[in-house]
Amino acid sequence: MPGFELFGDLERKELNDVLENGVLMRYGFDGMRNGHWKAKELESEIESRFDIKHAQLTSSGTTALNVALAVMGIGAGDEVIMPTFTFVASFESILAAGAIPVLVEIDDTLTLDPTAVEKAITSKTKAVMPVHMCGSMADLDALKDICDRHDLYLLEDACQAFGATYKGKKVGTIGDAGTFSFDFVKTITCGEGGVMMTNNDDFAMWADQYTDHGHDHIGSDRGAETHPILGYNFRISELHAAVGLGQIKRMDEFIAIQRRNHGILKGALSEIPEVSFRRVPDPEGDSCGFLNFFMPTAELTSKVVQAFKDHGIDSFWNYYENNWHYVRRWDHLKNAKSLFPISEEVRSRIEGIKDQKFPQSDDLISRNISCLIKLSWEEQQVRDLGKKMTEAIRSVL
Ligand SMILES: *Cc1c(COP(=O)(O)O)cnc(C)c1O
Repeated sequence: MPGFELFGDLERKELNDVLENGVLMRYGFDGMRNGHWKAKELESEIESRFDIKHAQLTSSGTTALNVALAVMGIGAGDEVIMPTFTFVASFESILAAGAIPVLVEIDDTLTLDPTAVEKAITSKTKAVMPVHMCGSMADLDALKDICDRHDLYLLEDACQAFGATYKGKKVGTIGDAGTFSFDFVKTITCGEGGVMMTNNDDFAMWADQYTDHGHDHIGSDRGAETHPILGYNFRISELHAAVGLGQIKRMDEFIAIQRRNHGILKGALSEIPEVSFRRVPDPEGDSCGFLNFFMPTAELTSKVVQAFKDHGIDSFWNYYENNWHYVRRWDHLKNAKSLFPISEEVRSRIEGIKDQKFPQSDDLISRNISCLIKLSWEEQQVRDLGKKMTEAIRSVL
């Protein structure tokens, strides 16, 4: 998955354009910049490649989520439904909005369980935030149907599923808004960066303003612009955008490599009857940034983890033991370790997560192993790795 593995001349060329004119900021300085608008160009690339009306670049995937929640008008006391298995950015962005993260079970797609989502809806629910974890996608038809019936926003966190599709549409463009991260370890990297995508014209206008202190971006004198709304600084720099612009031109190549490597590894592991794979709602659309498989029991899974280590295999995770991606170890959330006071309502709700049980998620995550699919692997290298993995698994069966 990490695009940095194949950092090269294209990225350097785009970056040099910026260094040569010295305008590191995405707005203004029209005369100095020699016609280079890297952030604007990257937004246009995303809009055309993803067939979406509006792309708003941000400083990170996390701030892209902040922006999406803000333009949806989500704030104090509102509830947002999110999965137990995700990156911490999901609840960080919800808490930053002053809203309440409502955690629900995942299913064998390793993403939101639609049945659990429907049960968690209350009169305060404003949005459902599926997170397309590890390269593949949530059951988007079912989630969209729930959102339509209950008049809720669908916000897709597609940070880990860059280039995945669902029934012919790009993941991240199906909900009311969607996000990608371009941090250092994502399929396409800017170093740091993110994007919020939407077909909603109002959301796009507010996102453009909100990410830049509320600037209306009318005219060419920043000091004379008005501020129709309160905003923040969530801007991306031209330097970061330039790297992303070089990378995104290679996205088809990157996804093709991921799919080839994923196919080889999956083929190898499929020979072991005890191994089963996550359900992918649209298998053709898997971006294949990771290969996720299950062992029959948690005990066997731990043995496989040890066997992988003993066989010198790296870049795989059992998220049950991981501090960042699964609810079990989110003690800072459950103990409301905020540096500043948070509302009593939010505090009591997040402290309440301690008493919540997620048996379905526990079962799935404790039996899951997630293998990163690297872009730099040569074909023979992946075949050898597949052989090593099957040997390691067979050694504990
Ligand atoms: C990486 C990631 C984010 C946050 O992206 P940053 O750019 O690192 O802030 C959000 N959600 C998921 C699922 C991610 O993997």
